[in-house]
Amino acid sequence: MIPAAFDYVAPSTVDDAVRALSEAGEDAKVIAGGQSLMPVLRMRLAAPSKIVDLGRIPALRGVREDGDFLVIGAMTTHYEVQRDPLVHEHATLLALATDTVADPQVRHRGTFGGALAHADPAGDLLAPTLALDAEMVVRGMDGTRTVPAAEFFSDFFTTALRPTEILVEVRVPKTTGWSAHYEKFNRVAQAWPIVAVAAAVRVDGGTIAEARVGLTNMASTPVRATAVEQALVGQPASADTIRAAAAHAAEGTSPPADGNADVAYRQHLAQVLTTRAVAAAAGV
Ligand SMILES: Cc1cc2nc3c(=O)[nH]c(=O)nc-3n(C[C@H](O)[C@H](O)[C@H](O)COP(=O)(O)OP(=O)(O)OC[C@H]3O[C@@H](n4cnc5c(N)ncnc54)[C@H](O)[C@@H]3O)c2cc1C
Repeated sequence: MIPAAFDYVAPSTVDDAVRALSEAGEDAKVIAGGQSLMPVLRMRLAAPSKIVDLGRIPALRGVREDGDFLVIGAMTTHYEVQRDPLVHEHATLLALATDTVADPQVRHRGTFGGALAHADPAGDLLAPTLALDAEMVVRGMDGTRTVPAAEFFSDFFTTALRPTEILVEVRVPKTTGWSAHYEKFNRVAQAWPIVAVAAAVRVDGGTIAEARVGLTNMASTPVRATAVEQALVGQPASADTIRAAAAHAAEGTSPPADGNADVAYRQHLAQVLTTRAVAAAAGV
């Protein structure tokens, strides 16, 4: 189908983009890589009167260090995140999860910020971002605010972004020296996960000193497996310890039921995939 008619602007600065959005009010929409928005427009599930294209704002693109943080511009493509040496060194989990997103064509167009703003609970980048305690830097007409990932993802395809705000960049606390793994379970290659688990651990002298575990597609938002993390910390990095901790993976989740899996199967998957993800991350 052909999208409904809309006005189109492609500003070159964030300020101009925010102004264009706020002039149109709630009837405008930002476009980043278009990988999720274009199908929505073509199916006429949305018919905004104005599209604000962020693709010509260089300031929104790229990866840089800022002290203890890695800062990833919202318009940095999946392909760029996947290959960035700073991401590999300081946020390995994100690089590994991005490797599993779709296919090369989508990864060249789709953006990190677009995936987070779209907030599909089956999206592969939400749980790693949550697990790494990232912060979202958001700009609107009233200025800039920072929203922790734990508050950013508020519901199914819903975030803390106001209609006239733009996600500018994501600040990811460095996990340099940690090891990580993203375990994705899907029916065919290049598909969204039925369930996936993002794990990062810091092992010190054979003991799990710190652990982060995030779950994909186990609720209407990404979920932090806090009980698993607590059960891991201070324990020896062994297969038995990890299996016992992973038994808590489904606690506090409310997974969807669909043609791929019912609730019980997803809860079972969460435990199995958490065991695999943490074991792989810990090198067990
Ligand atoms: C065939 C196919 C397979 C895919 N497979 C996977 C997969 O396996 N795993 C996975 O995780 N994803 C998958 N995706 C989705 C892909 O990751 C997209 O890149 C992502 O969902 C949206 O990013 P985008 O830059 O294209 O955003 P867009 O489609 O341009 O925008 C998506 C939404 O976010 C809003 N938005 C975008 N950027 C901003 C911003 N900076 N500030 C405020 N709002 C913003 C837009 O207004 C829109 O509502 C797939 C997509 C396709 C087409």
